[in-house]
Amino acid sequence: MNFFAELVEQSERLRCLPKRRLFRSDTSVDQIARLRYLAWLWLAGGFAMATATGVCFHLQARLGTTGFVYLIVIVLLSLMDSFITSAVFSITAVGCLAFFFTQPIFGFRVAELRDVAALIAFLTTSLAITTLVRRVRWLGKAAREQARLLDLSHDSFFVRDMNAVITYWNRGAEELYGWEKGEALGRTSHQLLQTRFPVSIDDIMNTLLKMGRWEGELVHAKRDGSQVVVASRWSLQHSANGHPISVLETNNDITLRKRAEDALRRSQAAYLAEAQQLSLTGSFGWNPASGEIFWSEQSFRIFGYDPDIIPTVELTLERVHPDDVALFRQVIDKATSGEQQFDCEYRLLMPDSSVKHLHVVAHVVTDEPGKRRFVGAIMDVTATKLAAQKLHEAQTELARVTRVTTLGELSASIAHEVSQPLAAIVTNGEACLRWLGHPSPELAEVQSCITRMIGEGRRASKIVHHIRTLAKKDSPQKTLLDLNDVINDVVCLTQREVFNHKVSLCLKLAYGLPPLLGDRVQLQQVIINLMMNGIQSMDGIHGRPRELLIESRMDEDGNLVVAVQDSGSGIDPENAERLFDAFFTTKPNGLGMGLSICQSIAEAHGGRMWVSSKPGHGATFQLGLPAIIGRPDNARGQIDFRELTKRAPQ
Ligand code: ADP
Repeated sequence: MNFFAELVEQSERLRCLPKRRLFRSDTSVDQIARLRYLAWLWLAGGFAMATATGVCFHLQARLGTTGFVYLIVIVLLSLMDSFITSAVFSITAVGCLAFFFTQPIFGFRVAELRDVAALIAFLTTSLAITTLVRRVRWLGKAAREQARLLDLSHDSFFVRDMNAVITYWNRGAEELYGWEKGEALGRTSHQLLQTRFPVSIDDIMNTLLKMGRWEGELVHAKRDGSQVVVASRWSLQHSANGHPISVLETNNDITLRKRAEDALRRSQAAYLAEAQQLSLTGSFGWNPASGEIFWSEQSFRIFGYDPDIIPTVELTLERVHPDDVALFRQVIDKATSGEQQFDCEYRLLMPDSSVKHLHVVAHVVTDEPGKRRFVGAIMDVTATKLAAQKLHEAQTELARVTRVTTLGELSASIAHEVSQPLAAIVTNGEACLRWLGHPSPELAEVQSCITRMIGEGRRASKIVHHIRTLAKKDSPQKTLLDLNDVINDVVCLTQREVFNHKVSLCLKLAYGLPPLLGDRVQLQQVIINLMMNGIQSMDGIHGRPRELLIESRMDEDGNLVVAVQDSGSGIDPENAERLFDAFFTTKPNGLGMGLSICQSIAEAHGGRMWVSSKPGHGATFQLGLPAIIGRPDNARGQIDFRELTKRAPQ
């Protein structure tokens, strides 16, 4: 290696060392290398200057020529080291010029003003060139440092011209795509990386030219053919006169993140599907305008269709229970004609003849302006419905059992009620026989006896019929009823009980009440229960009348009301809250189910029960029921007041 090449190599190597490290004691190896380099350089510089001086002096070169030769040496030196070296050699050169090439020769004094000016010009030029060289070197170094930093970055960068030809390719890009810098430069980036764009490249370029930048996700192919998803940022570079000249493309590998997101989305979907299956709730989306329907897996399961088919309203209709088709169509029509939400229940009749009960709720979402789409949930509530049905059956049975229990309590009264007409029938039968036994039978008397017998027989059979219906296991049936009829039916069963307990029973029934829709037996049960409670509450009353008043009326809201008022012990305020609770009783042999059943019957009829009481002076239990039509004109004011039993002796 020649001397100059060695100097250049040393210079390059040392240039890469951070300068401050050259002056630190802990980096003695670098310091020694630097000092060695400086010694070589200064030696070489001194040698070059001496040679130039010697040659020029020998050739008797002029001041200007020699200065020019010195300038070449100084520029070379400044290329190889710092400004100080160049400055020192510049001053040395001025000294040599003054000593050897100006008058008087061999002396530093310069006699001619022209030479002084030439020396100053030389020094200025030399320093200016040195500074310029230093600046150029600094810019080159900054550019190299920038490139080094870009290479250090884990992100991949490349620059391409406006024809997508790659002009710069950093180490990150090499690592990401597997293409070496030399292989990538000069190739068209989109072809090399087989770029898949999210939208058309023309749209992307339009945005880039308009905004100066573009961001999005791209799919690139690596050298080995595998694919990589990158978050890409494009930035437009301009020339000095503002023309777009290149695009700096920064790409971040987000393949793993994407995979993790996909996996998360898949697992979330799996959890959702699992949860939907567990809760028997499917989801759906429906665009009424296009008829397009989306069903979740569970929705397909609920409707019993294969997930491969495309759901339609017609397909859904095929499953809807024939009795609910009209209701279903109504919901669809309303939703199509602008309804914002729906909440409905209907049944499905499945191919195996089983019935499913569905509760569907949905509301409109508008993702895009003017585009209506229903999103909702389909809940399979069959199990809940069946459980509610079973509960209802159990309640009905419990009510029947308590009715039969009440009938047991009333057995003495009932026996009396039945035996009375029977005795009358026997008496009339005997009278009949007597009238027939006469020599000339009194047929008119016989006829009236038989008529009375028929009447008494009917009375007995009516009582037996009431008892049978109360004890029967029929499921509740709602019919149009006259409230006063219901009260009268009950009264005829309980009259004897009233008498036995020395109670005077009064009826205050309003005329012309509108009918109500209800189950006769259940309403009879409520009134019997209220009457029996009233009668029992007066058992301990002595010294004041025991009065039971049954009243029917219509209230201000148009509801029918039955009130059962007694003059018994009244209700202890402490118990008032719990009266209607199941199993609450203050009676030694009470079951505590009566009022609770009365309240459920009232609620099943859309009505309610309430109580008022003056402790020690009696209580009034009231049952309010909705009437089937509005208030008739004669419903108020005209009252049928009957004192059915004479005030019993105390
Ligand atoms: P039971 O008659 O078996 O006790 P109920 O549910 O019919 O069950 O009545 C619950 C309780 O309400 C009774 O034990 C009693 O304390 C109170 N009660 C009901 N009716 C009256 C009434 N007319 N006067 C006073 N207390 C009453």
